[in-house]
Amino acid sequence: MRTLIRGGKALTGDPALGALEEADILVEDGRIAALGSDLSADAEVTRADGSLIVPGFVDTHRHVWQTAMRGICADWTLLDYFRGIRLTASAVYSPEDVYAGNYAGALEALDAGVTCVLDFSHCLISPDHADEAVRGLREAGLRGVFGYGMFPVPVAEPPFDTVEKRLEDARRVRITHFATDDGPLRMAVALTELGLVPFETTVAEVGLARELDVLVTAHTGSVHAERRPPEVDLLERAGLLDSRQVHVHCNACTERELDLLAGAGASVSVTPETELQMGMGYPVTAKLLERGMTPSLGCDIVSNNRGDLFSQMRIGLACERARANQPVLDRLGMPDGLTLTAAQILHFATLGGAKALGLDSEIGSIEVGKAADLVFLSSGGMSFAPAAEPVAQVVLQCGVGDVDSVMVAGEFVKRDGRMTGDAAERAHRVAGESRARIEAALGGWDALLPDPPEGWFDDVVDAMAENLAGAPAANEE
Ligand SMILES: [Zn+2]
Repeated sequence: MRTLIRGGKALTGDPALGALEEADILVEDGRIAALGSDLSADAEVTRADGSLIVPGFVDTHRHVWQTAMRGICADWTLLDYFRGIRLTASAVYSPEDVYAGNYAGALEALDAGVTCVLDFSHCLISPDHADEAVRGLREAGLRGVFGYGMFPVPVAEPPFDTVEKRLEDARRVRITHFATDDGPLRMAVALTELGLVPFETTVAEVGLARELDVLVTAHTGSVHAERRPPEVDLLERAGLLDSRQVHVHCNACTERELDLLAGAGASVSVTPETELQMGMGYPVTAKLLERGMTPSLGCDIVSNNRGDLFSQMRIGLACERARANQPVLDRLGMPDGLTLTAAQILHFATLGGAKALGLDSEIGSIEVGKAADLVFLSSGGMSFAPAAEPVAQVVLQCGVGDVDSVMVAGEFVKRDGRMTGDAAERAHRVAGESRARIEAALGGWDALLPDPPEGWFDDVVDAMAENLAGAPAANEE
């Protein structure tokens, strides 16, 4: 199957190519076979006149299963989220709900031009939950990495009543769903937060990822507390840090922990909106850049904010500039330049994300040999009247409403402003049914956040300290 896309303008994301005024893109068997102007080929021609074509966006941190709880956390802190969603709502999720969340959530990503997502799937109560999570992503046609969540969801009679049973199920999922590593969906192991389980369990979880030869992803340094365990230090001392890891947030990490991550070649996913809104602190964007690391971006939870990367690019850019400018303003001066550019943040949302996932030879830019994951921004919208310089246009002017068509591996999943087939209708139906089911199972949304017992967070920190007592002693510096 050969398709020749003609008449669009492309922002390739390849530093050597930059923007192409007249981009002909030849797609063959899902890959970009040729790129240039006035290409001739024996192929079906698709006109893209008036489109600005950009690489599919890559989201390196999202809990796609939460889609049916859209907006529930609008005014919640991170600790409210931990109590309400992680400890309460997740416990009433059926396999059907995980499917609905992943199917509708994957379509939401695609609709916004996010063609690849690292799905941190930490609502895997049973083998059926895991199977349905994978099915949801697959049926939607999303590229990505399925992060098998090791977190023990607190249910009355857990099907995985030992750590070993959970590890065994992850092995089953690797064999059943990810027998080879050449498909659009790959596997990862999504760790339980350090300290929520005994340290020996963390050792087993990282060991499992190494055994399965897959990426590790982990929530790291998102909680600020006087007795916060130095998570990265602990991992390093136990020999558990390596380059195939995506650590998420890291706002509370010490300089030394960030040095360790950089030294190990690990990467960090920044989720500007949830970090700012829910009380995690400023994103560590600049601290990563200082260490030669490339940040990547994630939407985190649509139970809080919508699942597009235009928002994350804009918020990420604005808050980093605000953070960097504030000391100058405090001295009653005016900044004489800005620290982060629009081109840099666009890179984080595309090739930077691909690099974090180890997929930069496959996706992240429009280059010959890479997968044809393409986003067609229509220039018909008012934000294009007139069109800005392409990078400024994409980062600071465009939104989901400008995404006219989206292609994954050469196949349109969205065309002329609509998801193909009956995908959108199905997503609305299953997500709506799931939301009603979850609400009924909870006995109403108010059940999510009863007044917390006095001192509950101190108790959590105490339990974490106890769980980590078996970890190698951290450096006292
Ligand atoms: Zn998260």
